[in-house]
Amino acid sequence: MAEIIEGIYQLLTPFPEFSYDDAKALRRQLEEHPRVTKGLPYVLPYLIKSGGEIALVDCGWNTDNAYKALEIGMQEHGSHPTEIEKLFITHVHPDHYGMSGRLKQLSSCEVVLHEKDAEFIAARYFAPRPLADEMSLFMELNGVPTVSAPGMSMGSFGMLDKVSPVPPDTEVKGGETFKVGDFDFEIIWTPGHSPGHICLYEPNRKILMTGDHILPTITPNVSIHTQTHGSPLGDYMRSLEKLVDLDVKHVLPAHEFDIRDLKKRIVEIEEHHEVRLAEMLRCVDRGGSTAWDVAGRVKWATGMLADFEPWMQRAAVGETLAHLEYMFELGQLSKVMRGKHLYWLPV
Ligand SMILES: [Zn+2]
Ligand SMILES: [Zn+2]
Repeated sequence: MAEIIEGIYQLLTPFPEFSYDDAKALRRQLEEHPRVTKGLPYVLPYLIKSGGEIALVDCGWNTDNAYKALEIGMQEHGSHPTEIEKLFITHVHPDHYGMSGRLKQLSSCEVVLHEKDAEFIAARYFAPRPLADEMSLFMELNGVPTVSAPGMSMGSFGMLDKVSPVPPDTEVKGGETFKVGDFDFEIIWTPGHSPGHICLYEPNRKILMTGDHILPTITPNVSIHTQTHGSPLGDYMRSLEKLVDLDVKHVLPAHEFDIRDLKKRIVEIEEHHEVRLAEMLRCVDRGGSTAWDVAGRVKWATGMLADFEPWMQRAAVGETLAHLEYMFELGQLSKVMRGKHLYWLPV
């Protein structure tokens, strides 16, 4: 796959539903004609190879196909997964972190992850049952009718066999610098899409790896669920501001294709959320609404909430909550418990 500059290479690993060749073809097509695809076809890991040192940023799902793609991609640049010394994970979502355990076994690499994402590896990947029970209660709290709730809480079990989890060797907070040969990568903590999401910035070569935080056409899901605290959308908006003044030449996301104008993209994403916030505010009744009520009224690109698969409904409720909580933070909404349900009210 593509050389960004000497020593930094963009690789590609397919999602489970796609072959390597189809995913590569889509990578080319999408860059020429950006459009919405049904699901994500691939993740873009980055190989850093300098001064005899080898590091990787993100990996992919733990499928044989994705591993094979990684192996081919690395071999094209004279390296191999067994030689990885450092593995930086932008966040613990399965498409970025899924293959970590397998790579650790092969290479004994140092796995680097933010402490906030390290926190929920155990609950999410090693002992997921209690989390599912918590999720049912959480859905009830937010007004999801009980017929939907059990299916929704089981939504993510299907992916566990495609993740090979491993605890990190090094937990970061943001602000650290890692040397890989001639490169100095700074860790920038960008919570929002995930509480421990990080970006990597190389100031001398002006390279920024944005993970899922900033993508060229997709706005990443920013959601409230049982493992988030506070206001993820507030965090996300502040994390965008952290990057806006960086001196950059190459902006490298983990999906889609390279970002040409970072500032412009940040403004677009901010505007998208402003529109969404105003729309959600209009969907809150004077007398109060649950997150489920609001999610049922707003427009979704993929159709009506009632027709969604359970896991999509869960994502929609989580995303709605993130917007409601942010408006609460801004003083535009208040919230109150009535019986078992949480209601939001305009101020
Ligand atoms: Zn993600
Ligand atoms: Zn992703």
